[in-house]
Amino acid sequence: MSVSTLGYVVVESADLPKWRSFASEAIGLMEGAPGPDGSLRLRIDQRPFRIAVVPGSAERFLAAGWEFADEAALAACLDSLRQAGVPVAAASAADAENRAVRSLYRCKDPSGNALELYTGRHVDYLPFASPRGLSGFVADEQGMGHVVLPAPSLEETRAFYLQHLGFGDSDQMWLQMSPNPTDPKLGIYFMHARNPRHHSLALMGAPVPSGCVHIMLQARSLDDVGYALDRCIAQGIHISSSLGKHSNDMMVSFYAQTPGGFDLEFGCDGLEVDWRTWVPTTSLIPDLWGHRWSPPPQKS
Ligand code: FE
Repeated sequence: MSVSTLGYVVVESADLPKWRSFASEAIGLMEGAPGPDGSLRLRIDQRPFRIAVVPGSAERFLAAGWEFADEAALAACLDSLRQAGVPVAAASAADAENRAVRSLYRCKDPSGNALELYTGRHVDYLPFASPRGLSGFVADEQGMGHVVLPAPSLEETRAFYLQHLGFGDSDQMWLQMSPNPTDPKLGIYFMHARNPRHHSLALMGAPVPSGCVHIMLQARSLDDVGYALDRCIAQGIHISSSLGKHSNDMMVSFYAQTPGGFDLEFGCDGLEVDWRTWVPTTSLIPDLWGHRWSPPPQKS
């Protein structure tokens, strides 16, 4: 019943041109054919989209789409959810078409994050080509990348993904966020799906107004990352974190604030793991070097 990959994320926006400018012009994602719902579809491989920006009235993260290899794997997940009393809704044929998949279901995790569970993703046969000359993405069978979701009900939410979606533990981190050592630490669980990416999902034990902490896309080269960083700075996009290297997945990345209010981590050289021999770790520091954080500018 294990989930295969993070297939996509869905974002709502009242300003699609701003997303187009951020994602295509600054980062270098390819714009695909628009969805039947008028969504801006952003490509990094031969999937019809990895980020769908749905026209709406708010700037917010809507859902993460989790891919299952076949109907049997999806059905096992749905059975597990229903037996535990989790409400699961079958999406309409039109909604499945909007997501470019054959079978689509929806539910929420114990922290209120929306999940879309699917199988039968469509293929876009037009080869990927970046409008900014990126060499390409580490995606395809490793999925879109990773998503970090707010999980105020941290332990319950972790158990949900382990039990019902078949995630496995990769790493955990406990960060002292205040100068007072007796304050509770912020916990983050990093979890993997059935692919070599170190984590497809992380859960952070705190609420986040935008509905997402960050999404991560992995480019093929450091030059892709460096040029994108320069373009973001030139466009006046807020750089939430400078270039740095994570201690657990070895990703070299920077973080830029998306028009949705959450961050995009844009990186390269992420760890690939053989899960047959992996022993989950506890990281004592988030970074080997870099990743200096800057608060977002205050809106007046
Ligand atoms: Fe990340």
